[in-house]
Amino acid sequence: MQHVTLNNGVQMPVLGFGVYQIPADKTEQAVSDALAVGYRLLDTAAAYGNEEAVGRAIKNSGIPRKELFVTTKLWVQDAPAQDNTRRAFETSLTRLGLDHVDLYLMHQPYGDVYGQWRAMESLSREGLTRAIGVANFYPDRLLDLIFNNEATPAVNQIETHPFFQRTADHGLMREHGVQHQAWGGFAEGRNDLFVHSVLSEIGEAHGKSVAQVVLRWLIQRHIVTIPKSVNPDRMAQNIDVFDFELTDEQMSAIAALDTGRTLFFDHHDPEMVAWLSKRRLDS
Ligand code: NAP
Repeated sequence: MQHVTLNNGVQMPVLGFGVYQIPADKTEQAVSDALAVGYRLLDTAAAYGNEEAVGRAIKNSGIPRKELFVTTKLWVQDAPAQDNTRRAFETSLTRLGLDHVDLYLMHQPYGDVYGQWRAMESLSREGLTRAIGVANFYPDRLLDLIFNNEATPAVNQIETHPFFQRTADHGLMREHGVQHQAWGGFAEGRNDLFVHSVLSEIGEAHGKSVAQVVLRWLIQRHIVTIPKSVNPDRMAQNIDVFDFELTDEQMSAIAALDTGRTLFFDHHDPEMVAWLSKRRLDS
């Protein structure tokens, strides 16, 4: 597995396993299968409701903790968020059955963002998380956070796939030392991604599937990716992307698929902001 080095020196695998929308009663099996085929980065969140199942799979795998890279995420907290954030983090840690995580992400750019970030900086200083970062931050919010705080996020996890490529965001993140991580790398199959003619043709040229082409394209753009699957054959397929390389021409053909628009949530849409901001988790 290839790794990237985050802005604080921590090494992170370039490809991992995401567990969003895997029901809690299916997650332990899915994560056990993913670990068995070789994934070492696991991406969960308090909001996914499956941290306990992820933790059980980790425990039962017998894989040494230092070989794993575990990410979880803080849901939106009310102000003042300092204590709430610590409590939410401790709840996640308990559910995971771990004494630290590798990456703790602020899940949304809402709520008491500054209080949340400063509490996350404290958790990082105490070694309870090896790195801290954010998710769903557009450039304006990201720069504001960077310019007005001590720690620069190590990672920004954002929607990124062939139909929404985030080229400008990527350049800006590189400039500021923030690692770009893709969520929804397959666009969850929207726009008929898995049978798209351009992607299928490139796959045929390499004897690879569309899914493998997309993951390879992300990796060649220096983007960390976390495909989700509950199917062990697809899990194995999705990690088998290190034995081929897309040509410049193929990278350009995929670049031409960008629509510059989200297929999921527009974080600037007032209705979406209201919906995400009002949602509160039990703990
Ligand atoms: P995704 O990885 O783009 O797509 C997952 C879908 O693709 C599933 O329906 C899966 O079906 C299918 N699939 C996977 N491999 C395949 C293959 N080789 N061939 C055909 N179909 C395949 O979607 P995602 O889960 O939304 O995103 C990935 C991860 O990013 C999440 O799990 C989560 O960890 C993270 N995420 C973060 C945020 C955030 O706000 N920070 C938001 C969304 C997601 P099967 O399971 O049936 O194989």
